[in-house]
Parts: sequence; C-alpha cells; structure tokens
Amino acid sequence: MAEKKIKQIAIYGKGGIGKSTTTSNLSAALSDMGYKVMQFGCDPKADSTNTLRDGSYIPTVLELLRDKGKVDAHEAIFEGYNGIYCVEAGGPAPGVGCAGRGIITAVQLLKQQKVFEELDLDYVIYDVLGDVVCGGFAVPIREGIAQHVFTVSSSDFMAIYAANNLFKGIQKYSNSGGALLGGVIANSVSLDSGYQRSIIDDFVERTKTQVVQYVPRSITVTQSELSGKTTIEAAPDSKQAGVYRELAQRVDEHTESKTPNPLTPQELREWAAKWSDQILAAESGEVRQPAESI
Ligand code: ADP
Ligand code: MG
Repeated sequence: MAEKKIKQIAIYGKGGIGKSTTTSNLSAALSDMGYKVMQFGCDPKADSTNTLRDGSYIPTVLELLRDKGKVDAHEAIFEGYNGIYCVEAGGPAPGVGCAGRGIITAVQLLKQQKVFEELDLDYVIYDVLGDVVCGGFAVPIREGIAQHVFTVSSSDFMAIYAANNLFKGIQKYSNSGGALLGGVIANSVSLDSGYQRSIIDDFVERTKTQVVQYVPRSITVTQSELSGKTTIEAAPDSKQAGVYRELAQRVDEHTESKTPNPLTPQELREWAAKWSDQILAAESGEVRQPAESI
C-alpha cells in the first residue's frame, strides 16, 4: 500500500493578527470533515491550541524538556476538540535564549519518534509567529517540513509588511526544497469598506499570489473565544463558522503552492504611498480612478 502523504501546512503572520484563531477554526473544520489533524503551536506565547481545549493551556515541549530532561513525545500531545492532537513548542524562559530553538527542538522530538506516522495523521498545521528574520521561525519553511505556507494578514501596513518579509523568506529557500506559498488569508477585512479589500487584492496581485479566503471581523469570534472555544465548536450554525468551513475546503483542495514575488523596500514604500494618496483623496471627497499599478 502506498504510504499516506501527510499534508503539512504552516500559518504565518504578525503577532495578534488572528493566526491562532484562524488556525484553530481551520483545524476544527478539517477535523469535522473527517481528517486526523494535529495543531502545532510555534509561538513562544504557547496559546495556539487553547480554544480547542475549552480555554485550557497545555505544558509545552520545552517546559517538559526543562522539567524532565528526556521526554516521550506522547507526553507533549494533548487531545482537543473532536480528537485533534494539540502540541505547543513553547519558548525559553522569558528574557533568556532563542525563541526559534523551541520550534526546532519540538519538531525534532516528534519527528525522531515518528509520531506523525504512528498517529496516521492527514494534516499537521503549524501556527507560527511571523518573524522569519529569526532562523528558528523559518524552520517549517527552510527544512521543507511544511509543504504549503499561508499567511494571515489584514489590510494594515504592518501586517502587510510582515507578510512581505515572509515572502522574502519563502523565496530565499525556494530553490533548496523549502515550502512554497499557498496564499493569503485576509482576516478582519471588511468587505463593505471600499479600501480594505482593495488594498489586500492589490498587494497579492503585486506579489503574484492570491487570497484564499476573506474572513470578516465578527463578534461571534469574540464570543466564542470568551467561552474558550473555536467558532466551529461554539457557533457551528453561524455565518462565521461557514466562512471557516469554506476556508478549510479551499485549503483541502489546494495542491499547487508557488514562489511569491516580494516587493523590495523601495517598491513597498511606493506602493504604500500610492494607497495613502488614494485614501486621502477619497476621504476629502475627490473622485479618482482606481490607482494604476506602479
Ligand atoms: P495571533 O495568534 O496572530 O497572535 P489571535 O488569533 O490570538 O492572534 O487573535 C488575536 C485577537 O484577535 C483574539 O482576541 C481574537 O479573538 C481576535 N480575532 C482574530 N480574528 C478575529 C475575527 N475575524 N473577528 C473577531 N476577532 C478576531
Ligand atoms: Mg497566536
């Protein structure tokens, strides 16, 4: 029998942009589709998986290693919603050491003990803080651990700046077997506002990628989080749960990732200035044609 191929996905984005919220809802929706899913938190905050576990936190791989010296990988895996396997890499004690090391160590521990094969997983989803500037955070990309990278971004410049940096990281490792880009998950983008969607759409066009799903800002997400749950679990009949199920469907159907075309600092500056002018003109009532691509 042919060996089952595990689909490994890394979700990147700047801190606070909605990675863990999106990832947990994606994991929950894929699990509801019948897949065996592991969610692997790679943020030193170690709060990736708590809405899959009624708001409870789990010990991280690095904590277990610090406490016990030697760890059986199974001790670091905890069951979440619908049987999802939850792992948190963790980080060094605050103020000491390199946060990226946690990812390397945690991934190695599970790989060496062949846990992914043993659990017969369909999906491993890494939820990674967006700073690929640090080598450790680039591990899922660089080592070809993930096959597909998605980035969560809003239309805010800092989120787009982080996404562009991620694209540089992907491009850099693309010739040596690194993971490629599946696309952008546009989070907290209001489809009613004239700009938010246009800004993201323009950015993905310039960088030769695509938006996989627009996820609106929703009070249902807030309410679900406050009850310690994903929206898929807390409000399965809500419109927002439908958005996350659609995202899961698209990720599941996705096969072909690509090398993105990041903007240079100069191009990004000019791109931002163009949007600044556009918005200023519209806010002051001036009617203009949509900006031409620069
Ligand atoms: P990250 O993992 O990127 O640091 P989180 O997923 O923890 O970010 O999200 C940060 C905050 O934003 C959380 O309180 C979360 O509930 C909220 N949030 C994220 N996406 C949405 C959304 N689409 N609608 C409403 N709130 C959201
Ligand atoms: Mg997070």
